[in-house]
Amino acid sequence: MNKVKNIDVVNMVNNYINEEKRQDMKTELIFLGPPACGKGTQTTKLAEYLHFPHIDTGSLLRAEIAAETPAGIEAKKFIDKGNLVPVELVSRIIKNRLSQEDCKDGYILDGFPRSLEQAEQLTKINNEINGSTQVRFMAIYFDIDTSILEERIVNRRSCSKCGEIYNLAFKAPKTQGLCDKCGGELIQRKDDTREIAHSRFETYDRETAPLVDYYTKMGVLKSIDANGTIDEVWERLLEVIK
Ligand SMILES: [Zn+2]
Repeated sequence: MNKVKNIDVVNMVNNYINEEKRQDMKTELIFLGPPACGKGTQTTKLAEYLHFPHIDTGSLLRAEIAAETPAGIEAKKFIDKGNLVPVELVSRIIKNRLSQEDCKDGYILDGFPRSLEQAEQLTKINNEINGSTQVRFMAIYFDIDTSILEERIVNRRSCSKCGEIYNLAFKAPKTQGLCDKCGGELIQRKDDTREIAHSRFETYDRETAPLVDYYTKMGVLKSIDANGTIDEVWERLLEVIK
């Protein structure tokens, strides 16, 4: 009896120590998942929950350009010519951002990496910033059948007056073609056709598959089932980052 109790106490102490260690540890989170998988909603929610900065690469780049920083001015030259901003330059901007004080305990990075080359850059950046700091890095993969997402996209409609979003498959308007709220005409976004959606998913599959491999080999890939309601996926996300 006493023996059992002692083991319990040892376990309790160990759990406590592990918990303490984990809370001290910097947490770096990146997200992989196809377009329209609900990643955006979940990452925003998670950033608020963890009090981590939510770094969206697209917004970051636009902010640098607007502020006319040296990197922003350089990036603008590429964009104005209709070219992609080179990975070295994007990496430099991201490194600057991740080096800031508010990222000390952790961050959520969104929209980067999108290719193997970018993933390798991110590993390099993190190593340079962290030195010997203990870090918990996780690549959270939103696992979902893209054919489901394709249906979601092609059935998406929005009100031309108030912007309310509908879905003909699971949130149809009461009167066909008209908004329940304001009676405005429902429209389909130009990009929401089957052809465009399909090609976006093909691009995604081609670019993301190597990333899933890369992070699996590093032992940091955490897969979550992204089918279901916002609340269901949120519960699964919390389980994974615990
Ligand atoms: Zn409306």
